[in-house]
Amino acid sequence: MRSIPQNLRVICLYDGAGVENFDIHQIGEYLGQWFGADRVRIRPEFVRHHLRGQEQADQRKLKTVTEDLGKAHIKDPAKLVSKDKLDPEQFAQERKWLLEAVVNREAFYDGIALQQTYFELLADEETSLEFMHIVFTNRLIGTWDQSDRRYHARVSVYGWPSIISTTGIVEGPAKPREYYFGLMAGLDEEKVREELKGRFIDHGHPRLTEILKGYSMQAVFYHLFAEPFCEEPDCRLFNAHWQEQMIRAQLGTGAEFCRRHQKLVKKLADK
Ligand SMILES: [Zn+2]
Repeated sequence: MRSIPQNLRVICLYDGAGVENFDIHQIGEYLGQWFGADRVRIRPEFVRHHLRGQEQADQRKLKTVTEDLGKAHIKDPAKLVSKDKLDPEQFAQERKWLLEAVVNREAFYDGIALQQTYFELLADEETSLEFMHIVFTNRLIGTWDQSDRRYHARVSVYGWPSIISTTGIVEGPAKPREYYFGLMAGLDEEKVREELKGRFIDHGHPRLTEILKGYSMQAVFYHLFAEPFCEEPDCRLFNAHWQEQMIRAQLGTGAEFCRRHQKLVKKLADK
């Protein structure tokens, strides 16, 4: 592992999730407790912040970002997103979602294309290693998997900026096997969900913010060490593929981190 960089000055958190039980200020306090409250800045939704609001928005930039969001929009999970120009209807829809900040759980976006779209909006002086950006969104994001040639929903895509999806918490990690078996057997979905209560996270979960603290920490680890994950299932940096793994890593009752990461986080906190 590389030595701890000295130069992370600012952690920007973008408040774009707009969903129940998500409190960005708690995430800010949590990161502030480790890395210093003076390093953390809470900003409005990413695009609106960087376009400086709807009224003063540079119309040309707004048009480009709307077009790029539309291109990142996955219409068919078995097909890579296309670079074709949007038709006027698609354009109008993306623009509406963007400007009205609609909670948009249905639309699915290519996480890497979304990240590139966001990166283009960052001011040059904020693209250095001194700045890190964590974008919280309710848009569902996914990445393309070459092995089965389709998009898979994800909680997060780390980089510049890092994107964390509140919808991804629900749709990314797989639910217990019984859930899928139940549906295949034709059981009533509500009944199956009720039976498996506590074993997966649903929309509006009361501890959503708590879960997102761990993903925010993964984003910081990606920024500092290019390695966001840990193999210890009780560590907040565990890369959960199943809901039950996520619940164990983020809401477990033991220590927040494995011994190695606990030590490392403490060392960072002492800086
Ligand atoms: Zn760990």
